[in-house]
Amino acid sequence: MPDLRTAAAKLLGIELYPDNMPQWAQDLVNQVCRDYELNVPFKFTWRKTNRQETSGRSWNDDDGVSKSGRKYNAKYAIQISQGWDEMHCKLVLLHELAHQIMPARESHSEAFWKCAYSLYRRYGIDMRYAYECEKNYKDMARTIGAEFLAGIW
Ligand SMILES: [Zn+2]
Repeated sequence: MPDLRTAAAKLLGIELYPDNMPQWAQDLVNQVCRDYELNVPFKFTWRKTNRQETSGRSWNDDDGVSKSGRKYNAKYAIQISQGWDEMHCKLVLLHELAHQIMPARESHSEAFWKCAYSLYRRYGIDMRYAYECEKNYKDMARTIGAEFLAGIW
C-alpha cells in the first residue's frame, strides 16, 4: 500500500519529522498513520527536556472534513517536549495521535478516550500504566480507562 502521507509531504516540500525526533517515535507515527489511514502530513515540533515526563499538544483544525479530503495546513500539528521516560513519551505521542485521528470537535470526549486507550492497547502500552497516567486528567479518562481494564471495550 502506497504511503500517501510521505508522498504528499514530498510534493508539498514538507519534512515529516525533525532531526531530533527519535527513530522509534518516527516508526510509531508511521505505523499509526498507516493503520488509521491518516494520510495528511502534520507538522512535528520536537524538544528534549531533562524531566521524566513528556508533554504534548496537538492541533487538528479539520472542520469536519473527512481525513481523505483534508488538505495540508499548518494547523495540523503535534508538539512534543520529550522527557527521559520512554514509556511515558510513547503514551503522550499516542495521545496526541488520537487527537489527529479524531475530529477536533471531540476534544477529550468519551469517543476520544476510547480511541486513545485503543491506541495504547494496540501499540503495546500496559493498560494499567495507561490508566494510572490518564486517570487524573479528566473524569472521562478514568471512566473509559476503567472500562478498558474491565474488558468492556
Ligand atoms: Zn489531549
